[in-house]
Amino acid sequence: MNYRIVEIEAPSRDTAKYSILIIYTGGTLGMTHDEQGTLQPFDFGKIIEEMPVLRSLDLRLTVISFPQPIDSSNIRIDHWNQLAQIIERYYHQHDGFVVLHGTDTMAYSASALSFMLEGLCKPVVFTGAQLPFGTARSDANQNLVAALQIASAHHQEKPVIQEVAIYFDYFLFRGNRCKKVESVHFDAFESENYPPLAEAGISIDFDFNVLYRPLSKQHFKAYQIAPTQIALIKLFPGYDHTVMTHTLETPGLQAVLLETFGSGNAPTSQEFKTMLKKAIDQGVIVYNVSQCNGGRVLQGRYSTSKHLLDMGVLSGADITTEAALAKLQFLLSTESNSQQILAHLSTPLRGEMA
Ligand code: ASP
Repeated sequence: MNYRIVEIEAPSRDTAKYSILIIYTGGTLGMTHDEQGTLQPFDFGKIIEEMPVLRSLDLRLTVISFPQPIDSSNIRIDHWNQLAQIIERYYHQHDGFVVLHGTDTMAYSASALSFMLEGLCKPVVFTGAQLPFGTARSDANQNLVAALQIASAHHQEKPVIQEVAIYFDYFLFRGNRCKKVESVHFDAFESENYPPLAEAGISIDFDFNVLYRPLSKQHFKAYQIAPTQIALIKLFPGYDHTVMTHTLETPGLQAVLLETFGSGNAPTSQEFKTMLKKAIDQGVIVYNVSQCNGGRVLQGRYSTSKHLLDMGVLSGADITTEAALAKLQFLLSTESNSQQILAHLSTPLRGEMA
């Protein structure tokens, strides 16, 4: 792959203690308006010109750019695979990684990378912006500088963050606990079911009690994700039975992420039960996540979820839809034993569920 790599020439380049690799994928942060006034990702070379602040930090910074920066709505699994490959290739050369990414799908990508990077002992901090660099009142500078400071933060000679995280609007969140919840205001992300890892005020205050630590027996390994056949079905009153049946009968379907009501509830009609049971009997994994941002799936709490439990629907507990999809994609492409897949779906792999 033809990546562009630029070493940032800074006065402290030879003396700085820590080295950070910035991976530029695209997103609003690096966009500019075209003649029609539409935002488009712009040339990587210009990004450096727009970021004089990078030269003033006491860090050794290298920027690597996707050959074609993208709006994150165009992100695909091969981009995730490229990100994992880049981090694997440069893992020992840098102390931390900052991924510049569009906000639209950042929570999906951060979730995917959290699973793909096993035994990660260094920070991988995703960030972006709601307004491009160079725009008056842009949040890009603040987000990037804080993300770099977080990615280089050490405590007792070890990186403070040893997981995939998202930094946005003064908060650092666990990547696989986040959702994009806001498209206009600066506070684009929320992590309803897990506390922030850090808050940036005049200093960056980490909450050491909630940071993820990899299992000591795990060595760093970057996995790749393969194409999978997963359907996301969000229940709503008045759904059409035929439409849902067609989805569930898609040839080759491997898994369904079922977005249910409240604490994991769904219709109890015979036709709904028969349709879902048939899919499960044919080997389709059905994974239950709630449409609520906060709280958790508790199958069996109500009679409207007891039938799901009885027919073998798996509970996603308090996992987000974004993390659940990434987890399914990861497990279906890296694990061949179906019993292991089911077991992993019910237990946390990277702190993504309680
Ligand atoms: N559409 C943009 C993207 O996700 C939005 C953003 O970066 O905030 O690439």
